[in-house]
This record gives sequence, structure tokens and C-alpha cells, in this order.
Amino acid sequence: MAKKKLSPRAERRSFERAANKLGEGLERLARLEAGGDRSRPIALESASQVEPHALALTCLRCGSPYRLDEHAAVPVPREATAPRDETRSGAEARRTQRATDILRVARLRCSQCGARREVWFCLSPALPN
Ligand SMILES: [Zn+2]
Repeated sequence: MAKKKLSPRAERRSFERAANKLGEGLERLARLEAGGDRSRPIALESASQVEPHALALTCLRCGSPYRLDEHAAVPVPREATAPRDETRSGAEARRTQRATDILRVARLRCSQCGARREVWFCLSPALPN
């Protein structure tokens, strides 16, 4: 394969495509790491640790600091087979209560390139060391 010399503009486009592909790959990888998905939350002892933890991360695409768009508490059912609201008794309701985890999600946005990222946390105050 003969290597064709690219114009500066074509070279730049080619570089941008490669950088974009790399960014997408890093984002896919980050979703598989702790905190990257609601099924893999990072355990923290208190809600006050969520924001410092999330903001210590840097953009996967350009390395810039993130801004916090939102810090939300999200109820996530632990079991997909929770009883339906209209049929459950008090005891079942209590079971359903226990089967719901309240997760925290930090929604971040890169201050430089605008890339978004979600980081998931669960709060375990009685976490044994
Ligand atoms: Zn960025």
C-alpha cells in the first residue's frame, strides 16, 4: 500500500476522526468500570462525598475538568419482579421498599468539549472497613 500524502485539512480531519473514535472507546470502557453504570455503583459512606468524588474525574475525551450538571437521588428496583402497586398488601409494600435501592447519580459535563458522563454511587453508611 503506497502512502498517499494528505493535505493539512485532510490530515486534520483524519486526526479528528481518530480522536473521536478513541473518545467513544474510552467512554464505552468507563461505563464498564465502577460507577459507570447503575448496576456498578461506587459505594460511599455519605451523600456529601458524591460531588467531590465525581468532580475529581476528568473528561475522557480531552482531560478537562467536569462541571456538575445534576446530583440526583434515583430509586432503583433491586428485583425486576417487585409486586404490583394495586395488589400488594402492607407486608408486600415493606418488602418492595427494601427491594429498592436509592442510588445517587452525578451527571457531569465537560467544561471544555461538552462531553457528558454519568457516575453512579450507592450510600452505605454502615460500610465495614
Ligand atoms: Zn472534554
